[in-house]
Amino acid sequence: MLARKLLLKHSYLEIRLSSFLSGQKFKMSTSDIPLDFKALPEHRSLVIEKFGEPKDSVILKLRRPEEVLPKVLGPKQVLIRHLAATINPADINMIQGIYGIRPKLPSVVGNEGVARVEQVGSQVKNLQPGDLALGVLVTENWQSYSVQSDQSLYKINNKLEITTAAQLKVNPCTAYRMIKDFYNLKQGDTIIQNGANSAVGVYAIQLAKLWGFKTINVIRDRPNKDEIVQELKQYGADIVLTEEEIGNVEVVSPIVEQIGKPKLFLNCVGGKNAVNCQRILDHGGYSVTYGAMSRQPFSLAATSLIFKDHKFHGFWVSRWYKDRELDRRHEIESMLNEVGELFVKGTLKPKSSKLISFEDRNIAFEGSNNTKCIFSINN
Ligand code: NDP
Repeated sequence: MLARKLLLKHSYLEIRLSSFLSGQKFKMSTSDIPLDFKALPEHRSLVIEKFGEPKDSVILKLRRPEEVLPKVLGPKQVLIRHLAATINPADINMIQGIYGIRPKLPSVVGNEGVARVEQVGSQVKNLQPGDLALGVLVTENWQSYSVQSDQSLYKINNKLEITTAAQLKVNPCTAYRMIKDFYNLKQGDTIIQNGANSAVGVYAIQLAKLWGFKTINVIRDRPNKDEIVQELKQYGADIVLTEEEIGNVEVVSPIVEQIGKPKLFLNCVGGKNAVNCQRILDHGGYSVTYGAMSRQPFSLAATSLIFKDHKFHGFWVSRWYKDRELDRRHEIESMLNEVGELFVKGTLKPKSSKLISFEDRNIAFEGSNNTKCIFSINN
């Protein structure tokens, strides 16, 4: 402790002296820790300077550590090394400038990722070097390292695979919340969802199965449809139908007869697909829209509102986190721990993923092809 105090004091004097010699004005308190820039490699980040198509707008920026980091680590700050970060539809829409929120430009991109704690400020209690951590509201994950406030970071299960940890905060937790927080489902009830082979979709299938609910899953038709059907059934899907089949009464009626009308509809597609799913929702059922992959509006039939008493909701996991970060952090921690544990035990299987370097980013921007793309940053 004494040695650390002396070191801090020494560093403090050294910085004051070097600042004085270089003519810079720079104040530092004894609880600040100087950052050792020499120990850090060149900083790499994917940045947008203008909104547009990702392949045209995203640039790889290389900078010296001192260009991107503060000189010192404040008492409640944490230096993290970003390990891996997902490329989600939200990132693509953010880059295009059509997402619900727009960052101030230029901006580093990346709504989701996982990091290793490198160094902590003198008053940080919730984290220590070596911890695996993520920031539920950190939106600049496509970079090699950064300084964050301690309260913006959450320690997660160190046994998680990095590719799984990188996708913990968004997709499985979105599925988790949508199944838990809307309709009061009972064992044996049915959920219908479109975009069922999306990452959110496969986590919804697995959580529904785990909690005793059945699922009707709608996907787009494709030459290798049978492969996707098999994959979803392995995750625990009860029924898998194409967009065409869900619109066909002769196909749908016997299925609904057999497993019951769905009580909850999870919609990330919109358009005609969503209208067809909505049509079979039970009386009093809940419809939760969380995406619009078809970019088509979701029209509501009057019968849904008047006779079937359907409830329509939207869900945005970022808002769920934002509403809790200040004074209900325990709810966030509890969910991250529970979902993390399910992955570690193998109860939840991660969506198949492909690791990509920053240099190969255009592969990820071209589309998922049923695989989640993840930037490998510091592995
Ligand atoms: P993935 O990248 O894993 O999958 C994308 C899915 O969208 C695939 O099922 C794909 O099907 C489907 N899709 C793409 N284009 C179309 C189209 N034109 N019509 C119908 N389906 C289409 O996605 P994620 O699981 O990461 O995200 C899925 C959706 O959920 C996105 O809209 C995303 O923004 C949203 N989301 C919202 C959250 C929230 O809090 N509101 C949180 C997390 C995700 P195919 O294989 O046929 O191409």
